Amino acid sequence: MTGSDEIDSLIDDDDPAKGRHGSDMWQILVVDDDHEVHAATDFALHAVRILGRPLAISHAHSAMEAREMLAANRDFSVVLLDVVMETEDAGLAMVGYIRDTLHMPECRIILRTGQPGYAPELSVFNDYDINDYRTKAELTRTRLITAITSALRSYEQIRTIAENRRGLEMIVHAAADLMEVRAINTFAEGVLTQVAALLKLPLDGIVCAQRGSPCATDPDRLYIVGAAGRLASHIAEPLEQLDDKSVVAAIEGCVTSGEHRFGDDHTVVYLKSGDQEAAVYLNTTNPVTNSDRQLIEVFAASISACFGNVKLVERLHYTAYHDGLTQLPNRTRFILDLDEAAGKDNADDVVALLDLQHFADLNDGLGHEAGNALLISVAARLQQHMNGTGVVARIGADVFGLIGPESRVNPEVLFDCFVSPCRAGDHLLPVAITAGFCRLLEGDRTGISLLKRANIALNRAKRSLHNSYEYFIPEMEDNTRWRLEIIRRLRDDFNHGNLAVWYQPQISLATGRVTGIEALIRWPGDEGFVQPPSVFIPLAEYSGLIVEIGDWVLDAACAAFREIRHLPGAPAYVAVNVSMPQFRSKRFAHHVEAVLARNELPASTLELEITESLAMDEPKVVLSSLQNLKKIGLRIAIDDFGTGYSSLAHLRELPLDCLKIDRSFISEISGGQGGMFAETIISLGQKLGVGIVAEGVETPEQAGFLRGLGCPTAQGFLYARPMPLGELMAWLQAHNTKLDAN
Ligand code: C2E
Ligand code: MG
Ligand code: MG
Repeated sequence: MTGSDEIDSLIDDDDPAKGRHGSDMWQILVVDDDHEVHAATDFALHAVRILGRPLAISHAHSAMEAREMLAANRDFSVVLLDVVMETEDAGLAMVGYIRDTLHMPECRIILRTGQPGYAPELSVFNDYDINDYRTKAELTRTRLITAITSALRSYEQIRTIAENRRGLEMIVHAAADLMEVRAINTFAEGVLTQVAALLKLPLDGIVCAQRGSPCATDPDRLYIVGAAGRLASHIAEPLEQLDDKSVVAAIEGCVTSGEHRFGDDHTVVYLKSGDQEAAVYLNTTNPVTNSDRQLIEVFAASISACFGNVKLVERLHYTAYHDGLTQLPNRTRFILDLDEAAGKDNADDVVALLDLQHFADLNDGLGHEAGNALLISVAARLQQHMNGTGVVARIGADVFGLIGPESRVNPEVLFDCFVSPCRAGDHLLPVAITAGFCRLLEGDRTGISLLKRANIALNRAKRSLHNSYEYFIPEMEDNTRWRLEIIRRLRDDFNHGNLAVWYQPQISLATGRVTGIEALIRWPGDEGFVQPPSVFIPLAEYSGLIVEIGDWVLDAACAAFREIRHLPGAPAYVAVNVSMPQFRSKRFAHHVEAVLARNELPASTLELEITESLAMDEPKVVLSSLQNLKKIGLRIAIDDFGTGYSSLAHLRELPLDCLKIDRSFISEISGGQGGMFAETIISLGQKLGVGIVAEGVETPEQAGFLRGLGCPTAQGFLYARPMPLGELMAWLQAHNTKLDAN
């Protein structure tokens, strides 16, 4: 092998350092007080490249000069150092200076001496980390280059190890810091910063994308969750929207293969934890070195756990504040949004709650899937209407919340929104809404109190027969407080057994005999009645208490009827009023059967009264429950008939035994004036072939008029007021005696 072959073989073209530092030069310092040595060294190293890089040779002619040069430039990789200069050991002293004073542990030192036979103490080699010791004569060109090459190799290795250590320290710190981060964007930003620092690149041209964003409808889509530099403006966009398709391809390739990708001008780091994945794209200009690749591997492994943690927390955070079906903010988020809106002092802002009418029926009738689809399309309709100007949230099963300027949040435009039907799967369904509004600057302005007020207005609107919306006014709140107090006392008195059931007879207009009795609840207090049923029954319905109370009334009425049914002239049935919440309860029919059995009553002795508005409000729920009850053999009556809005079609479907004409139509009959409505209802009842009871008959004139029209039965103060069971028994006896006497 010739000398130059030997030299060439030392030049390692594959060294990864070449790529990164290709344009750099190895900084070599020659320290010698002999000018000839400088010239010879220059000559020997002229145009030589080692490990792919040329040499930049500096010269110092004294220890003093060397110290100055080293202090000014710490980048020397190799120092060729003469041992004997100004003094016998000036060179050795230099070594101590380089290591201890200048703290240059990485710099390699080759000692040279002109005097063969002179060797420094062995301890100097160990203590000062000297690479080589040669006599100048020994250092032929080839040997010199070999020595420098091996020195540079170890210099590079030492540097790499030192850098790796710094990198690892960064990774450990980054992992510790990022473990604390709770939001994906902050995390992404942190990862970008760390990776860029690790690779000593500017924070630029870097994309961090993620799979399965909690807000993403398509879980496989990749989103940009953190970006810096060139791509900073693309944050939160789906990845595929990036103009630079090579970036898109690189990231998709990385996620599909589940591996880091090291390209010529980019690196994509793959992160995975559980089923969560992310990719960090870096524009690296040049291929990264092997040691940097290793660092990236370590980094990715340690940071993946943090990523999983962040994703989990973020997902929890998202589900805590969003509705899973519509992806709209939920009630909790809505209250926070209200808090914020209320703080803004914007007098123009309004909060609205929209309730979908008959949603429960639709859900039961068409199935939950259609119900869900309808909710989604209502959500979309509202979002489109608000057009980003405010908040749209889903705050209950079929209740949506809006916050926004009055121009968009007012009854007129919102009702207009639902003029055309909404799509729900295969169906196109008309949507009717009830709305409660509250101006944001009203009273105490916390999110929760604003929501409460809008809700008060909504409930008002729901109870109203004529208005499908209401604006909150402060008087409503006072009313609500009062209502809550009544509900509390009612619950209390009910639990203490303080409620009572009274009975009012129904009389045959033809014979004067008692046909049936109606059970009517009473709430006795210290001074008369605490409240009439017309006041507390709606509150009991509203609070759900009616289910328990209703069960109890049914029980009491059946027990009472059992006591009187075998008395002479006893009624044939007892009528009990039933509310919607009772109908909704699945066990209602069971309960009725059990009560009948317990009291040994045939089903035909029990009549259930439901009000007309209830029967027509939720026809589907009512129809199916009534059919079940009818199967048992019960009698069914429609109460307060004429006050609701029955469609004849619906009426014909219901399995009815009786219509009860509302009192208001009977009171019209006076002073020779006939009751047109009473007349119509009687003929309707006759056509449907059902019984008819006229309610609230107070005068003989009314009774005579009704008898004339063929109305079979009457109930009212003319015959008897509602009374407790004991009184009723006495009344029945007296009534019979009177009839028998005639
Ligand atoms: P309703 O079922 O229509 O009961 C008839 C109401 O008219 C009763 O009022 C009765 O006292 C009253 N009334 C009867 N005859 C006359 C009369 O000649 N003149 C006048 N002015 N009134 C008469 P009450 O007992 O105050 O009950 C009011 C409503 O409360 C009932 O109307 C019914 O809808 C509801 N209700 C009463 N008890 C119950 C119950 O146990 N459960 C349920 N869900 N509702 C009940
Ligand atoms: Mg009734
Ligand atoms: Mg009635």
